[in-house]
Amino acid sequence: MASGPKVVIIGAGIVGVGIADELTERGWSDVTVVDQGPLWAAGGSTSHAPGLVFQANGSRTMTAFATYTVDKYTAMELDGQWCFRQVGSLEVARTPERLADLQRRQGWLTSWGVDARVVDVDEVLRLSPLLARDQVLGALHVPTDGLAKALRAVELMGRRSAERGAVFRGDTRVTGIRTDDGRVRAVITDAGDLPADIVVSAAGLWGPVIGAMVGQPIPLLPLAHQYARVGPVPALAAIAASADLENERPILRDQDRDLYFREHGDRMGVGTYAHDPLVVDPFALPLPAPGRPPASLPFTPEDFAASWEAAQELMPALRGAPLEHAFNGVFSFTPDGFPLMGESREVKGFWVAEAVWVTHSAGVAQAMAEWLVEGQARLDVHEADLHRFERHQVQPAFVEARGRQNYIEVYDIIHPLQPMEHPRPLRTSPFYARQQALGAAFLEGAGWERPHWYSANAGLLERYDIPGRGAWASRFWSPIAGAEARATRDGVALYDLTPLTRIEVTGPRATSFLQRLTTNDIDRPIGTVVYTLLLDERGGIRSDLTIARLGEQQYQIGANGPLDLDWLLRHARPDGSVHIRDITAGTCVVGVWGPKARDLVSRLTSTDLSNQAFRYFRARELVLAHLPVTALRVSYVGELGWELYATADVGLALWDALINAGQDLGVIAAGRSAFASLRLEKGYRLAGTDMTTDDDPWEAGLGWVVKMDKGDFVGRGALEGRSDATVRRRLMPLVIEDVESVVMGKEPVRIDGQPVGTVTSAAMGYTIGKPIAYAWVPPPTGVGQRVTIDCFGDRVSATVCAEPLFDARGERLRG
Ligand SMILES: Cc1cc2nc3c(=O)[nH]c(=O)nc-3n(C[C@H](O)[C@H](O)[C@H](O)COP(=O)(O)OP(=O)(O)OC[C@H]3O[C@@H](n4cnc5c(N)ncnc54)[C@H](O)[C@@H]3O)c2cc1C
Repeated sequence: MASGPKVVIIGAGIVGVGIADELTERGWSDVTVVDQGPLWAAGGSTSHAPGLVFQANGSRTMTAFATYTVDKYTAMELDGQWCFRQVGSLEVARTPERLADLQRRQGWLTSWGVDARVVDVDEVLRLSPLLARDQVLGALHVPTDGLAKALRAVELMGRRSAERGAVFRGDTRVTGIRTDDGRVRAVITDAGDLPADIVVSAAGLWGPVIGAMVGQPIPLLPLAHQYARVGPVPALAAIAASADLENERPILRDQDRDLYFREHGDRMGVGTYAHDPLVVDPFALPLPAPGRPPASLPFTPEDFAASWEAAQELMPALRGAPLEHAFNGVFSFTPDGFPLMGESREVKGFWVAEAVWVTHSAGVAQAMAEWLVEGQARLDVHEADLHRFERHQVQPAFVEARGRQNYIEVYDIIHPLQPMEHPRPLRTSPFYARQQALGAAFLEGAGWERPHWYSANAGLLERYDIPGRGAWASRFWSPIAGAEARATRDGVALYDLTPLTRIEVTGPRATSFLQRLTTNDIDRPIGTVVYTLLLDERGGIRSDLTIARLGEQQYQIGANGPLDLDWLLRHARPDGSVHIRDITAGTCVVGVWGPKARDLVSRLTSTDLSNQAFRYFRARELVLAHLPVTALRVSYVGELGWELYATADVGLALWDALINAGQDLGVIAAGRSAFASLRLEKGYRLAGTDMTTDDDPWEAGLGWVVKMDKGDFVGRGALEGRSDATVRRRLMPLVIEDVESVVMGKEPVRIDGQPVGTVTSAAMGYTIGKPIAYAWVPPPTGVGQRVTIDCFGDRVSATVCAEPLFDARGERLRG
């Protein structure tokens, strides 16, 4: 007797079969996996993957996915044959810059709990003797990395899923999906219909084709990628004797030349990303046919020539080896490099797990099964959520532009602040022309042009002495940012907050809806502003919101992005009792902050802005210089002032009015770099960076926004019994001793040399005169504890401090 809902999985690649394995393990047995190709080598990307698994990733979640893949496949054998060999990996450096970056990658791995070290040339050559000594400066060695035998893993997981009740149907093509009343009902195939309560599209590079069947955009770009097997290589012959091992020495990456390598007995496999991106239209690919797997395209030797030369330079033993088997294999790239996971909002029961490498396949499959069976993944998966994109980011032209660029940059050293270069500009605030005139240094985020500092403020450097910083932290930075931060605390500054997501919630049940979704009591008098959290059912932090009550059933929400909008829309009943509208695009916001903010704003309005008349965390409609504005007395930088919201049409006039009125007060425009510093001095958290669904409110230091006595809300049940006393870790500020040692985030934190935590956000605290790093540390780590932070292989000394680090009593905010 089958149990669980009727699940149809489209795709019998490593992802689809992995999901079947994880679902049936959890007791769901009514699972059918359908593939247009033959089982178990169905002709998709999995059929061609050489299976190198490197766990290093700047994302904790992606590394966790990979680590689970390593553990799971290592424990699997198909008829006595291995599915994963932990031969270790080497990422070699040919340049000093790369060598330094390998230290940074080693830091990530330490943060995420994976053993790794940077080794010198002697050690590199001991581990991989075919490398040319004069080409290599050192390498990152990860002993638990290795080689996945993807098709063996597929067959083993397929067989055992079938034993648990799953049905596998090869050579069966999906041609449509039947929906009814906003739900999936059946998968239509060329061999008949398959009724379904849940459809999981694990169609890999064909994701857009399956998505189109239900109108769900799937923002991935299939690209052809070259892989060649060369040999025989006499120097590898010894290994060929024990052919089943295939690969004896560590798998290898030469990122400076966009190359990777693995052994196939006495042959060497060479993969390259050095060629121009070769875009493939998934709608135009042929159907699988014997000897013609659709994800393997003819080899284009002209694209391989330079890589082959570089490969022989790195490994002279390859010289003269013939190209034995070479092809252009196809797989998927997304606009940000993360997979696509989750359920369609419009078509209930339609799920997606695509753009997943073999490396992350088991981890993604596990998270998908948890999400389906238990209602959510145990790990924070927001980076991979299908709904994380802005509207422009799912348009085909954008997906192609970013997919191409991500292919080119796949092995590049990317600075955390490095913006995309193309297509730009996409989204600009109404203040854009004025910002350009002030010499704004624009970086990009979510498509928005965001000033990080303004060259017009260079003169402030005569007033403020701003310390320098190391080479890495100096990129995308100017000392002017420090001067802007100091000038904000001394005078008044305008911050363009337009790129922050704004959502309007109205309708007869708006209040009860928001009460139910958030932790704080938002049913407060009209004109009140409330800071609150969105939790998941397990009590983890999805996001934080600033909610202004502007009418009886009218709320304006300051949110963190598309995932917040998605969460609200998913929870709203479709009965019209709540209306949710993303108003970001049609509106703008300027933060006017600093001790002289009241002097400035008062000049433009007859409304009484005194502390008694307009208190902290209150909202009012104002007329400023003839312009209707909604003013919120809040500040993300910890100073007196207002966020001024207006429709986009009057934005420029509002900006000009503020600048003109504030000339004698020394008003400046200030950028995000200053903003980041001021926020950390005050300890304001950034959801998604400082805290995620892995953290509860007390761990994040936000227990004070949880009102357990207000009635039920999402996550409340899970919070019963939790408090400051039950935390597993704490988010705390570290103050770094050396003023020039500015870290950037994700670095490991150590006590007595042992890794204990990870930096989330970091910035120079210009007012306190020291660099700040917020970090997760375990209890009982207390104030005064001395720690070190790994920074490019160095250990930087820091001290755990009480927060906030500036204006602890909040007098400046309430002044
Ligand atoms: C040359 C090459 C080298 C690679 N190297 C590595 C590596 O070293 N390490 C690594 O981690 N990753 C590597 N990858 C990437 C990796 O192979 C893929 O990301 C991964 O295999 C994708 O698995 P999947 O199950 O999502 O997709 P696929 O294996 O493509 O499976 C999708 C399945 O869906 C089926 N399907 C599609 N449309 C339909 C339909 N209409 N009806 C029925 N069935 C349908 C297809 O037939 C296919 O079998 C490489 C890929 C290539 C091509």
